[in-house]
Order: sequence, then C-alpha cells, then structure tokens
Amino acid sequence: MSDVDTRQIERMKDIHARQKRAFEAERHRSLEERKSDLKKIEDMVKRRAADFVEAINADYGRRSGAETEIAEIGFMIADAKHARKNVARWMSVRRKDVPMTLKPGNAYVRREPKGVVGIVAPWNYPMQLALAPLTAALAAGCRAMIKPSEFTPRTAELLKETLGELFSEDHVAVITGGPEVAQAFCSLPLDHIFYTGSTQVGRLVARAAAENLTPVTLELGGKSPTVIANDFDIRQAAKTIAWGKFFNAGQTCVAPDYVLTPKGSEHDFAEAMIDEVRAMWPEAGENADYTAIISDRHYQRIEKLVEEARSAGAEVLQAEFATSPQQGVRAYPPTIVINPPTDIALMKEEIFGPVLPVLGHDGMSDAARFVNERDRPLALYVYARSKDTARRFLSRTISGGAAVNVPMLHLSVPDLPFGGVGASGQGAYHGEDGFLTFTHERAVFEAPVWHPSRLIRPPYGKMFEFFKK
Ligand code: NAD
Repeated sequence: MSDVDTRQIERMKDIHARQKRAFEAERHRSLEERKSDLKKIEDMVKRRAADFVEAINADYGRRSGAETEIAEIGFMIADAKHARKNVARWMSVRRKDVPMTLKPGNAYVRREPKGVVGIVAPWNYPMQLALAPLTAALAAGCRAMIKPSEFTPRTAELLKETLGELFSEDHVAVITGGPEVAQAFCSLPLDHIFYTGSTQVGRLVARAAAENLTPVTLELGGKSPTVIANDFDIRQAAKTIAWGKFFNAGQTCVAPDYVLTPKGSEHDFAEAMIDEVRAMWPEAGENADYTAIISDRHYQRIEKLVEEARSAGAEVLQAEFATSPQQGVRAYPPTIVINPPTDIALMKEEIFGPVLPVLGHDGMSDAARFVNERDRPLALYVYARSKDTARRFLSRTISGGAAVNVPMLHLSVPDLPFGGVGASGQGAYHGEDGFLTFTHERAVFEAPVWHPSRLIRPPYGKMFEFFKK
C-alpha cells in the first residue's frame, strides 16, 4: 500500500471517530438545520456548475458539457430542492393503530437518523452519484463520509473542496483513494454503507459490511434489455434508444444494454440507429457533445468485446468518424452488432460503452423468456403502442425499474424509488426512499401510567381471560 493510501486510511479512521462523537452529541438534527444543509448543496451546485463541468471534462478527456449540465448539475439541483421541500413531511411521526386489547395508548414510528454513513461512488456520474446519496443522508439527519472513484481525481478533489467549504469534517467528509482505501472504508463500523458500482465489487462491499452487521444499499449494474413489440415503429424507437444508449458514450448504469426487435427487422433497426447517431452527433470524432471513454483500460475492453463479436461472425455497423478524435481523446465510435452469438462476452457482461447488440425475437413471450434466462437487470425498457402489451410484458419479467416507450427517464422522477433487484442491487433511493435508506424507523408504544396491562401478572386469573380475547 502506498504512503498516500496509508495516510488517507489514518485520516479516515480519525474522521469516522470524530463524526461518531459529533453525532452522539447532537443526535437529532432539527428540521431547520436539515433544510439549511440541503439549501447549501443546491446553492453550491449552482455556483460551482462551471467548475464541475470542467473537472469532469478533464477526468474523461472529453465529457459533453451539456450531458454534465443535464445529468449532474440539473439533476442535483432538482434532487436537493425536492428533498428540502419534502423533508418536513418525511420526518414527521407516523401514527399507528392500537388494538382494543392494548388501549388506551399511542403507537407511532419516529423516523430517526441512522448515524454516521459511508457513500462509495463510481466514476460514470461522479458528481451526481456522490451528491444524490449525500442529500438523502443529510435530509435524514446523518453525518456522512464519501469515497469518490479513483478514475475521476479532479472531480474528487473538487467535491472535497466544495463540500469542505460548506461543512465541517465531523459532518461531511470526502476521502480520496483507490481500492485499498475503499476496502478499508467499507470495513469501518459505519451505520450504513451506500455503494454504487459494479456487481463484482458490490459482493466485496457486502462481505466487508457483514463483519460489522452494517446495513448496505447496493446500486449495481447489469444488462438492461430493451424490447420492441411488433406494433411499434422501429424508426420511432431508434430515436430515443440512440439517445439513451450513446448518452455519456453508453457509460450509464441504466443504458439500454441490448435490443430485442421483431425477427427480420434487425438490419432496418440497426440502420435507423446509425442514421439517428449521425443526426445527433455529426462529426462525432471531434464533436464536443460525444463523450469519451474514461480510461485506456476501459477503451481496450470495449475494443475487445467488438473484436470478439466480429470474429464470432456477427455483423458490425459503425458510425465511423469523418475526422479522427483529437489526440488523447478516447472517443469510441457508436457501434451496432447484429445478431451476435449469446455465449460471447458482449452478451454476458454489462457493456458499459457505446456498443449495442441487436437480436431478433419471435414475439413478446420469446423476448420475456430471453430476459428471464439472465440475471435480473437494473432497468428494462419496452416499446409498445398498446399499453396492455407493455404492461403484460412487465408482469412477465423482473427488473429494478422500468420505462415504457422511452429509456432511462424513470430515474428522473424524484418520487420513484431507484434501485436494483438480485444481481443489479438491493435497496433503493431518490426522494422519500432515499430519506428512508438513511433512517431508522423506531417503533414506540406509549402507555398511560394507569395502563390496564399492569394487571397482566401471575397468578393469571379472569383478567388474563379478557386479554386473550
Ligand atoms: P467499481 O465497482 O469499479 O468502483 C466503484 C467504487 O468502488 C469506486 O469508488 C472504487 O474505488 C470502489 N472500490 C473498488 N474496489 C473496492 C473494494 N474492494 N471495496 C470497496 N470499494 C471498492 O465500479 P465503476 O467501474 O466505478 O462503475 C461502473 C459500475 O457501476 C457499472 O457496473 C455500473 O452499472 C454501475 N453503476 C450503477 C449505478 C446504479 O445506480 N445502480 C450507477 C452508476 C454505475
């Protein structure tokens, strides 16, 4: 382990101890304080938007400024505002019914902060995926430590600087570092771990958390299917699928991973996708709105997936760049792979890049069988003119979330829970679900001093017969 990592781990342990002490001393953060914490985040995101656009662009080599504005800045402003507007309602005590035999008395649930929580963030939306769990934790009244990804060091430093200006370290702290630091982070006796990243690392996080019986939320990935029904115009479908797939160059956890289109329409659909790509990102090679791949290692992985598909006999269509990308920009051309064999890596691993396999289906039952033979995905998209067809398809399959006739937008509805199921994760957040993730629902029964239960005591007599009713 490097000296830098060792120092980060020492610092992290010290901050954890200080956050714990500060939480014990405060225990219940007031509504006004929580609203002020959320307002600080909202204002900071507005004030420092340009700095985040620049930092994420530097980390990627090229990240579309518009995509950062939409998916990080705009998303976070809406998220923090939604939490501030609703936190009073979320915090309020929930009254529960008291059965006749226990009356008189009050039963209610107090929504209390869990304590000191840890947030582990990935590189693909490095601001949103660090700050959205943070707003949920602050709304819940927790103290938080954040470990951003080592692949986005500029953004990590900017998060550290900007959050450092708003909060003392015993309230919110950013811990930078790689996998060793992340591993030590997840071994801390935290009151909750909120992890976003790959399924593979998610298993390690769950294992480390189990040692301390720390509850975890795992926001993982997977292969999100997109299914087009016979009644839907494939050119129409290509318009939004191309946007959803190639936004952030496919490096989105809920990006359509593969498409199932009616058998015989695979080529037409693939060509429609290439037309859409050319219309949306002309000159993608040097187009500032076509995002690059995060690292050389990730770029080579994508190249290898496509080469293997080509060698296996699949047809590959690429929106070739008219001009090559600038030096050092790892732009990978939008790519469609028609009918690849299903036993190659492209059809087994999450693609997480601008490559879309297209396969034919023999009707919606066949498509449902295909989806159900694989791990439960994070998202599922179904394109159907008939609402019945779409809803029937949803009831035949399982996924973390779903959207009909459009990709990805379910995650922008603040009141919808966002999370996976099975291999794509456990737990959820956004809106009230995020607040509840970091909240302990404490059940209370309040009896009056003269409550009749004081009569239930041996020797059991007639009174006991009454309570048994
Ligand atoms: P990753 O799993 O490689 O890394 C994510 C974070 O985990 C980083 O901060 C990293 O430092 C940390 N980490 C690495 N090793 C660790 C260990 N042993 N213990 C604890 N933490 C460790 O993921 P990534 O490549 O940054 O992100 C891509 C993956 O994330 C994709 O699978 C994608 O689908 C998924 N993802 C999911 C969501 C969601 O909301 N469900 C959102 C974005 C990305």
